[in-house]
Amino acid sequence: MDQETQNSLQTLSTIRATVPAIEELLYKVIPVLDHGFIRVIDYMGDDSAIVQAARVSYGAGTKKTSQDRNLIAYLMRNRHTTPFEMCEIKFHIKLPIFVARQWIRHRTANVNEYSARYSILGKDFYLPKREHLAAQSKSNKQGREDILNDKEAKRVLDLLKQDAAECYKHYEEMLNEDIEGNVLDDSKSNLARELARMNLTLNYYTEWYWKIDLHNLFHFLQLRADSHSQYEIRVYAEAMLQIVKQWVPFAYEAFEEYCLNGAYISRKAILVIKKMISGDSITQAESGMSKREWKELMEVIQ
Ligand SMILES: Cc1cc2nc3c(=O)[nH]c(=O)nc-3n(C[C@H](O)[C@H](O)[C@H](O)COP(=O)(O)OP(=O)(O)OC[C@H]3O[C@@H](n4cnc5c(N)ncnc54)[C@H](O)[C@@H]3O)c2cc1C
Repeated sequence: MDQETQNSLQTLSTIRATVPAIEELLYKVIPVLDHGFIRVIDYMGDDSAIVQAARVSYGAGTKKTSQDRNLIAYLMRNRHTTPFEMCEIKFHIKLPIFVARQWIRHRTANVNEYSARYSILGKDFYLPKREHLAAQSKSNKQGREDILNDKEAKRVLDLLKQDAAECYKHYEEMLNEDIEGNVLDDSKSNLARELARMNLTLNYYTEWYWKIDLHNLFHFLQLRADSHSQYEIRVYAEAMLQIVKQWVPFAYEAFEEYCLNGAYISRKAILVIKKMISGDSITQAESGMSKREWKELMEVIQ
């Protein structure tokens, strides 16, 4: 039993703000992809922490729940973001290395990753499900198109599996150690772990603790829960959305309303919308917008 699970079994009283739904969720593994997961390890604050902080700047107001909800919506709408930084959450995440490379670009979190210099990486590697093996998109260099046919999908899965397994075999061989640290062959020397790890494929899993405040988490979720982000990181973001929804329901509701399902509209786009509302016709060429920008606008308003 690990320390966190032991802690979870103790019952302590506190005068700090707690959220029953998140208390229930603490330390529990939420599976993501084939071998990945997310666990909430700790959190600080709730919806009322956002409201409290905001009232420092706006002065004491009435404290009715409906007003808290409206105040949070107002803060979100007007990008008064610092009150959202009063809430923090810490996750334990297991994710493929290629997903971690995208994730780590979000610089406003505190991260501590599993050390493959110090320890031996586990044998888990990610294999996409059949329905996620899609062809390269022709219109978007960072996207996917149609699902591969059965024959192609099988070939790709076989290659991914063989490469990962072969690389891990060579990794163990170079280490001259298995995952438990047992020496494989006394007559052979072992390469340092920090060097042996370099031949592992990017679909191997790593783990980290990731702590972030709510404002920056929303920024992460806005980018990574978006349909344009890669499926393999999006599923983690979607799992986090469900956690945030339970943790800070009013903030989540405002985020969903103004950010996640809202849209940034450019000056040209506003002119197009005004014309349409007044019953005038306007084409993409007349709008001065590029084809892509026009298409994106139509997706929002139609
Ligand atoms: C769909 C998609 C495709 C992408 N494609 C690529 C790609 O092809 N190549 C690539 O390299 N990256 C790519 N990225 C990564 C992207 O460019 C960002 O690095 C990533 O999304 C992190 O965003 P961020 O900097 O806003 O977030 P964070 O690092 O979390 O920062 C949050 C905010 O803090 C501020 N901030 C933080 N640090 C600084 C700083 N040092 N200086 C100034 N302001 C700072 C900024 O306002 C920033 O928006 C892609 C991202 C997405 C979502």
